Amino acid sequence: MKQTDTPALTIIFGATGDLAKRKLFPSLYNLFKKGEISNHFACVGVARRQWTEQQFRNHVRESVIAAIHSNEQMEEFLSHFYYQSLDVTNTEAYIELLQLANQLNTKYHLNGNRMFYLAMAPEFFGTIAEHLKRDGLTDTNGFSRLVIEKPFGHDLQSAKALNEKIRTAFRESEIFRIDHYLGKEMVQNIEAIRFANALFEPLWNSRYISNVQITTSETLGVEERGRYYEKNGALRDMVQNHVLQMVALLAMEPPIKLTTDEIRSEKVKVLRAMRRIEGQNIQHFFVRGQYGAGKINQEQQISYREEHNVDPESDTETFVAGKILIDNFRWAGVPFYIRTGKRLAKKSTKIVIQFKDIPMNLYYQTDQPLTPNLLVIHIQPDEGITLYLNAKRVGPYLDRTPVKLSFSNNRFNGINTPEAYEKLLYDALRGDATNFTHWDEVALSWNFIDAISHHWAETTEKFPNYEAGSMGPKQADQLLEQDGFFWWPIDYLDVDECK
Ligand code: NAP
Repeated sequence: MKQTDTPALTIIFGATGDLAKRKLFPSLYNLFKKGEISNHFACVGVARRQWTEQQFRNHVRESVIAAIHSNEQMEEFLSHFYYQSLDVTNTEAYIELLQLANQLNTKYHLNGNRMFYLAMAPEFFGTIAEHLKRDGLTDTNGFSRLVIEKPFGHDLQSAKALNEKIRTAFRESEIFRIDHYLGKEMVQNIEAIRFANALFEPLWNSRYISNVQITTSETLGVEERGRYYEKNGALRDMVQNHVLQMVALLAMEPPIKLTTDEIRSEKVKVLRAMRRIEGQNIQHFFVRGQYGAGKINQEQQISYREEHNVDPESDTETFVAGKILIDNFRWAGVPFYIRTGKRLAKKSTKIVIQFKDIPMNLYYQTDQPLTPNLLVIHIQPDEGITLYLNAKRVGPYLDRTPVKLSFSNNRFNGINTPEAYEKLLYDALRGDATNFTHWDEVALSWNFIDAISHHWAETTEKFPNYEAGSMGPKQADQLLEQDGFFWWPIDYLDVDECK
């Protein structure tokens, strides 16, 4: 059995909330069952609700069972959980929390190691960080780490203000900003595909790649998150963080080593090289959309403006498509197309690398252009890789036909790969910050996004402009058509269709 061998106390602020229930407790349980967290671990749940320790443990049990239908070693796991009712804005309450932390430190031999996980609304992040320092919780002889959820600010200015507050209590190396896409198996696999294969890296540049397409589509609408979504929209909710992180991983130079600092430094260079589009020019590069009513899987869906907690005249975008240009030697002239949206035809996150056509088509007799070679990285829900090649059509023909070579994680493992949160919690406990976002990345991403959101705030778009169950507004297709490309249809790319 492997263990992190890192004793630690994890304090979850917002422990009665949705994220803790759906992701954090099941992930901690999985790590515990696999022997990946040391027996020297304890977890304190913090929220305002006046729960007893027993109520909290029951809640953790129910969360785990609902998520992973397992009861094995449950009592032993639950015995590590404690609860402290606390309003994070109340100074005195932190003194009690410190006492509990000290007791647990002695009881479980935790070496003073503390990880503070803020599973709460971001407006509390600064206050909590300040209190943790002022009331002595960060003053420990072990490590002191802060794990925070998105959104990290609303724009560059608010992100800077938040960062300054947090930095009064934690050094940059102690801050773990979660981007749960970076915990996904296939996102982490981008580096292995690129840097462990002689086949791809020599072709990974503007000479051989014609364009890159990143799609992350959801069938769900805003559900209960109307209030949050109204303030953010798809650009801030998805593009600023997850989508730009994928662009950076795809476009970065090979790092000299696969260490946190080296990888981050290469990602930062990509974010710096992204062409900043401004003013009227933005309409030629970015498209926004908002869903109207429509059908998904035969079920009628209401429009965004009819959703709970949404302004009936809302201008918030639920869809974004864009063309990103990276002005460096490797990528000059290669468009990176991105799109993300809600209430689209299919739930899917995929990356398509489209290679340039070969210089001459010897199969011209068929009057059909050759299908380009594609490398498709399936991120979710399917996980895998497909390579599209051309081969001779079987039989007495001179013709060629596209074939797919596929690797599917789903089939290979027979079970789901570990949840992103499980891996990220494990990394944070070990102090590995590779798959978390550094402040430099956050700042550069906001800088890029702000120019677009400011322009959109000053101009209007006729919403709704796409039907629920479609793949977004027609302008998103035109974005590629004007360059002679098209979005590869999600169904065509489906890993299950692979031969
Ligand atoms: P949530 O369900 O609304 O939970 C909020 C938590 O904060 C509750 O435990 C609440 O408990 C506690 N809380 C609120 N005010 C408090 C106060 N003054 N003092 C102490 N505790 C307080 O929110 P969530 O969905 O879990 O999201 C938490 C964070 O994760 C947010 O930043 C969100 O954007 C981010 N996030 C969530 C998800 C997700 O899947 N849910 C995914 C990605 C990111 P009491 O009411 O008992 O105080």
